[in-house]
Amino acid sequence: MNASVNPPESNLQLLTELQSSGLRLAEPQAAGPSRRGGAGPSDHKAVVINGVTLMVPVHTHGAHQSAFVAGAPDAGGVSLLKHGSIPVAQIAFAKTPRFYALQTLDGVPYSHIATLHGTDVLATTVLQTCIRYESRKKACKFCAIGQSLAAGRTVERKTPEQLAEVARAAVLLDNVKHMVLTTGTPSTPDRGAAILCESARAIRRAVALPIQAQCEPPDDDVWFERMRDAGIDTIGMHLEVIGEAERARIMPGKATVPVSRYMEAFEAAVRVFGRGQVSTYILAGLGDTPQIILDVARRLLAIGVYPFVVPFVPISGTPLEDLAPPTPEFMRAVLAPLGAMVREAGLRADEIKAGCGKCGACSSLSSFEKVAA
Ligand code: SF4
Repeated sequence: MNASVNPPESNLQLLTELQSSGLRLAEPQAAGPSRRGGAGPSDHKAVVINGVTLMVPVHTHGAHQSAFVAGAPDAGGVSLLKHGSIPVAQIAFAKTPRFYALQTLDGVPYSHIATLHGTDVLATTVLQTCIRYESRKKACKFCAIGQSLAAGRTVERKTPEQLAEVARAAVLLDNVKHMVLTTGTPSTPDRGAAILCESARAIRRAVALPIQAQCEPPDDDVWFERMRDAGIDTIGMHLEVIGEAERARIMPGKATVPVSRYMEAFEAAVRVFGRGQVSTYILAGLGDTPQIILDVARRLLAIGVYPFVVPFVPISGTPLEDLAPPTPEFMRAVLAPLGAMVREAGLRADEIKAGCGKCGACSSLSSFEKVAA
């Protein structure tokens, strides 16, 4: 493709605007796989833009009206990104991974067991049900963990053997570099730590692949040692929202575990996994001001926790589907100072062994880390 590329703004501005506005696809079928439903951020697609992999909303209401449109990819998989009629960049979409063509002996497609995130991360929700999600009164209003299960695109409980089989194939066929094991929260007091341990043990027996496990803080900090001993390299415990009133409104079930318990658990986990190998996910745009987010990020960095701040993506079919995502200005007001803070604390994304902070595709934080003065 030889179209002239003339970005009207700096790359950082383009990244935050694209992630906030979403993207229309001229030929959705030609642009490869995207993700709908599931735990965590969704309804988006991996796009490589100026060397950075970014998850960009494509299935949200906002994305359908976005001024950003991607043309049909050429034979090399490159597509022209336009803002209105103005070309702004050349982009590439993540290719459909080869392991998606396989299935287990009992007929479960590998893509129902784990999926490719970004361009080199294998991700799965080990347990696709959650005690929080069972009632509308307790469910996190941004979450779609039940949607992909209801649509038959995943299985409820991925066995350790299935995960090991798919991880091995994804490494051999698609060169994945690390793996994210997340889970819905079971009713047991370990909050899912035990099934994450079982899963990691089986995966590590099959293949050398760094693993991040994600769960709510378990009842007993001894679980962090068990998780490390099972072969888990990094851990994510996700605050999502910080202010007490916002937590109670947006995630009434999860808010019963106070931020203070997360902070204790972070300290205990850093003692086991090391500085920078413990992280949290914070969703910007759900009521917390930039100041509140930056204040908590400062506390997290001081104890060695990587604060992965991500723009909220309103997922179709959830109670927050009509909430506007944060503006690019809001994201820059958070990410510019945060990038500098992360750098000063010496906890850079590329030094994380595995997981969302390392992948970084759901936020442009790691790009801000690189340019922060
Ligand atoms: S940041 Fe995490 S949730 Fe987002 S694409 Fe990467 S691995 Fe998946």
